Amino acid sequence: MKFTYSSGHRPLDGYTLKRGIGRGGFGEVYYAISDGGKEVALKLVRDHQEVELRGVAQCLNLKHPNLVNLYDLRTDQRGDHWVIMEYVSGESLNTVLSRHPEGLPLELAREWFLAIARAINYLHDQGIVHRDLKPANIFLENGMVKVGDYGLSKSISTSQRTAQTQSIGTVHYMAPEISTGNYNKQIDTYAAGVILYEMLTGHVPFDGESAGEILMKHLTSPPDLTRIPPAYVPILSRALSKNPVQRYASMAEFARAVEEVSEPEKLRASSAGTPAVRVAPSPSKELAEVTVVGGGPVTLSGVIGEMSGSLVMAALLAALATGLGAALAYRNDFGKHLTNLGMVFYLTIAVSWMILIPTKFWKNGNEDSWGRRVVMMLLGVLVGLHALWLEGWSGSMVLPLAGANSTGDAGEAVAANLSIAAGRLCYFGLVFFALRWWKLTDRQRSQRFSVGPILAAGFWALILLPLWQEILPWVVVMLAAGIVQLASPWEQPRPHSARRVRLRYA
Ligand code: ATP
Ligand code: MG
Repeated sequence: MKFTYSSGHRPLDGYTLKRGIGRGGFGEVYYAISDGGKEVALKLVRDHQEVELRGVAQCLNLKHPNLVNLYDLRTDQRGDHWVIMEYVSGESLNTVLSRHPEGLPLELAREWFLAIARAINYLHDQGIVHRDLKPANIFLENGMVKVGDYGLSKSISTSQRTAQTQSIGTVHYMAPEISTGNYNKQIDTYAAGVILYEMLTGHVPFDGESAGEILMKHLTSPPDLTRIPPAYVPILSRALSKNPVQRYASMAEFARAVEEVSEPEKLRASSAGTPAVRVAPSPSKELAEVTVVGGGPVTLSGVIGEMSGSLVMAALLAALATGLGAALAYRNDFGKHLTNLGMVFYLTIAVSWMILIPTKFWKNGNEDSWGRRVVMMLLGVLVGLHALWLEGWSGSMVLPLAGANSTGDAGEAVAANLSIAAGRLCYFGLVFFALRWWKLTDRQRSQRFSVGPILAAGFWALILLPLWQEILPWVVVMLAAGIVQLASPWEQPRPHSARRVRLRYA
């Protein structure tokens, strides 16, 4: 490849060119060293300068771990423009993909896609559209994904205009609406969808003899999703929608969808016919180990079936615990304790079920802890209502308060009842809010049963007892904390190294 400058040239003050790295659609890229000794990549911008430089200038102060850093924009004595940027020593995703004609292992594709999505989402948040998202502009260095060449980008606010006629980006990753000239950040979502497709299968969704043929396919052909792991099919069919409005509203939403299906159990279940983790056909330089993790049901009926088993198990354990309690109490005043034990039994089932049911549908790892706590709190209030019902609470206890002729005594009684009722509702609401209950039912919790969470639950249940003024709910909470662990499926965690994708670069 012939470059304008050779090694040793100093077209820009402060930088010595060492070698030309390559040439792309918008100029030549050199590896250079600053006078201070810093390695940089210098991009000499030749064509389409106005488009490129405006974009680069907008991006100069962006900072994101998954973006190639831009340092500066300079003009040399000949009037040529240069972009000074971080030199990335690793390979491009393009090079890696060419070594994996069957696609990357699923877990690796997921990791890399999520890093790309984070970078693009950041750009979008800053009002920038990348516009040239493709594997050649994505680098991998020391296990980090870095998206580069967002020099073509320009402000979203101006991107809706139709005047841009310059052919932009690479045709394989080009959203259909680009040909209309009227586009926005959704073109990046589409390109990211193409990249995800390529990482999963090893080839792009639309290929052809000529740019025109490929563009036509983008515009009219549905992508062939038959070789995509089933869990990714709905995601890619949305990301690759011809109509930008039907794509994910944001890269964050796209990433969330990928994060969700990529939970280990779905990976495994989605692989009917496809290995859960596709290992590269030849020994892979990038991948020393891949994740092969355990499952659990994926279909709704499977989840409900498993959950029903847990619920029955919880009820049996509650019966066993209260039965033991009854046996112990028998010698003393059995009759006195019986009502309490009945209450303990029903409440323990209620608490256990209210923990087992929602958490069955929650995946650990990326949770919105506060959102979940609030949901749990509401369920706790439901348990409180159940307790009131068990205690024979009825609306008539409140009604006299509404009547104008309620006597002072009746009024006081109602107020007292109300305060008890409020205490009951708040008690379980707060107990449910205080702890991350879903951790106890996580299939991949470190131990099937541990005492720590029971003590933590007991601690909060004790602290909040003034709201209830009886010891009973404390017993219920402790029992339930144990029962939900015993009633939830558990998988022996794999050794740490086998659970992680380890990346090695030469
Ligand atoms: P496009 O112009 O569409 O981005 P391209 O990516 O093929 O096309 P360039 O961006 O000009 O072309 O890059 C030319 C070469 O320089 C490529 O081989 C690329 O991998 C390499 N390169 C670009 N930026 C850097 C960088 N910051 N560090 C190291 N190599 C880089
Ligand atoms: Mg490039």
